Amino acid sequence: MTKPISVFWFRRDLRLQDNAGLYHALKSGNDVLPIFIFDKNILDKLEDNDDARVSFIHQSLEEINSQLHELGSTLNVFYGTPTEIFTKLFSEYSIKAIYANHDYEPYAKERDAGIRDLLAKQNILFRTYKDQSIFEKGEVLKDDGKPYTVFTPYKNKWVKKLDAFYLKSYPNDAYFAAFRKQSAQQIISLDQIGFSKSSIPMPGKEYEHILENYGEQRNFPAIKGTSRISVHLRFGTVSIRELAKTAIEQKADVWLNELIWRDFYFMIIHHFPHSVKNSFKPAYDKITWRNNELEFKKWCEGKTGYPIVDAGMRELNATGFMHNRVRMIVASFLTKHLLIDWRWGEAYFAKKLLDFELSSNVGGWQWAASSGCDAAPYFRIFNPEEQIKKFDKQLVYIKKWVPEFQEFEYPKPIVEHKFARERCLKVFKEALG
Ligand code: FAD
Repeated sequence: MTKPISVFWFRRDLRLQDNAGLYHALKSGNDVLPIFIFDKNILDKLEDNDDARVSFIHQSLEEINSQLHELGSTLNVFYGTPTEIFTKLFSEYSIKAIYANHDYEPYAKERDAGIRDLLAKQNILFRTYKDQSIFEKGEVLKDDGKPYTVFTPYKNKWVKKLDAFYLKSYPNDAYFAAFRKQSAQQIISLDQIGFSKSSIPMPGKEYEHILENYGEQRNFPAIKGTSRISVHLRFGTVSIRELAKTAIEQKADVWLNELIWRDFYFMIIHHFPHSVKNSFKPAYDKITWRNNELEFKKWCEGKTGYPIVDAGMRELNATGFMHNRVRMIVASFLTKHLLIDWRWGEAYFAKKLLDFELSSNVGGWQWAASSGCDAAPYFRIFNPEEQIKKFDKQLVYIKKWVPEFQEFEYPKPIVEHKFARERCLKVFKEALG
């Protein structure tokens, strides 16, 4: 039998530095075979064959592969289901243990439980680690041992618990010699997995320059006042420990607060997986949504006649990104003005957002629809005109995305604001009793 090896399975942690699971694999005492699986179970559900997320992953894997080439190794990239690929690997290698990082989404947890069983039958260990959040699962709990469902007390406990230990980066490079020596290979092409390269450009990784003025600038979509780091967090091309450390060093408390929201939603999806499909507060599943398909289509296309809503949707469709303030406005508009089920909006964002993160997306949508754990009250209905006065007074963002908005061909508002507000209050009140 060949020499036993460890396998490191990259998933949403696409970097060699400061990667918890990889660190433990490299220290395992066995040579480490680095692998990535283009999971058919996930890819088969994507509708667009130039999906920008797939291109982003592919590009990140190429970067890892060239770093591994420098180290005399290579990245082994497969296409199939994880079960198929691991079954194949058992027949080729003598595997001692498989290392990976935790993932809190329902599909990922189910997948990992299946893989754990499969490996156990072969007497192979499956070792997984916290990597994508500062605190996870049951690390920040209420005094009675139950999970928090309100953000502020969660955040206070989070901040209290934080010390240098949780921010320490993993010194992976000291152990890079443990990568299995392999001749350099190119990774599988996008074409071979049925995709083509997206024309959407990948956002950069620089975020430090926005931290100083983040508190003042973050709400104005015309300004590049937020970090745009979300896609890198999504795929782990940056380390959350590094970001949190920088936020603390630069006293960027408002920005740190947003990183804590991200941890909060990971914790919520872990403890309350039902909230992916159902309202966190069950009473909100009694709302009689209008679910008008034509109105939904107009919202998707940015043709509602409300320029701030239309600008947001067009930004999303063109770039795969939407500013947070505008995400809140378009989500409120869909659920409250149009009375369309938040799940429709959530699914559309899931299809389009480059930074799509199930936990934060569901959290953001349920916040806007008021059905979430720590949500806006149901009677808080954004007035799109007022939002423009507050956050895009000079109409710079709107003119960029809806240049025709003051012209004849621009559509009339899909629904009158005051009428929609009253209709929403009535329908929500009826449901909530
Ligand atoms: P910054 O403002 O620079 O914040 C830094 C990081 O903090 C972000 O990259 C993100 O990781 C985290 N963060 C910021 N705001 C939030 C928040 N409200 N909740 C959770 N984490 C936050 N974020 C996603 O990453 N993926 C999603 O699919 C997603 N869907 C959303 C849907 C709706 C309806 C709403 C209202 C918000 C959603 N968000 C989502 C949160 C937020 O809009 C984005 O994280 C943010 O706009 C990303 O831009 P940025 O990196 O410049 O953020």
